[in-house]
Amino acid sequence: MTEKLRTDAGTSARVPCAFTVDVEDYYMVTAFERTVPFETWGAYESRVARNTQRVMDLLEEAAVKATFFVLGWVAEREPALVRAIAASGHEVACHGYRHRMIGAMNPGTFRDDLRRAKSVLEDLGGAAVKGFRAPSWSITAETMWALDVLIEEGFTYDSSIFPIHHDRYGVPGAERFPHTLQRPGGSILEIPPSTIRFAGLNFPVAGGGYLRLLPLWLTRRALRSINLRERRPCIIYVHPWEIDPDQPRMPCALPTRFRHYTGLAGTSAKLRTLLSEFAFARLCDSRFQ
Ligand SMILES: [Zn+2]
Repeated sequence: MTEKLRTDAGTSARVPCAFTVDVEDYYMVTAFERTVPFETWGAYESRVARNTQRVMDLLEEAAVKATFFVLGWVAEREPALVRAIAASGHEVACHGYRHRMIGAMNPGTFRDDLRRAKSVLEDLGGAAVKGFRAPSWSITAETMWALDVLIEEGFTYDSSIFPIHHDRYGVPGAERFPHTLQRPGGSILEIPPSTIRFAGLNFPVAGGGYLRLLPLWLTRRALRSINLRERRPCIIYVHPWEIDPDQPRMPCALPTRFRHYTGLAGTSAKLRTLLSEFAFARLCDSRFQ
């Protein structure tokens, strides 16, 4: 796969990027897991279907097909949403069942969580689910065993290893671009979210809070550097709640409030610009696989 992308460097063809969406609601994020335990999720106002539809509208405007990593719990409660994602030509991939960090599970409980999510997503989407993204990028040096479970459960790619330093996740020395990981039971394609290299370190640029907090000119410059200068794919990610400035505010400490709620009002416009500037393919498409 790496070879295939490198071959493009010698031609005028544009290297496709990927636009990815982690389909979860505003109260499900890891930062709120203590104040909003899984057992209470059903009590909160659901905004995920409407917000995901708004992301799909942005994609349709730009004629872009994307990859949606859907939480199994959301899929069970919003079956029409998963069917709509698939019917629009987007890829349905897996974000686990109940948004548990991999480090909070063992191979057995992870397998159960994964199977439950994959089964409902395949039933609703009508196609095999090939890709996985761990909640909060939680495949780290300590939880690489999760890749073995993914291979055993039939996944062909993973997009969970963030090659950065971070207080909760990340594998700082990991490769920045799609690459094959060899494991005892087989191999799996790893597709990391985009980073730029500066002063010997990798910095995240292409999604989530980084996309909301950085000015658009800086994000564009970084993505153009990756895609046009390095001639590699940018992997952009967003959550449906990130384009919803009116979402209910959860009680939380100041740093979390800053990370979660800054820049919500400007995200749609930023995404519209990025979607118009780059070429995109789904992660399940042959350009990535
Ligand atoms: Zn998530």
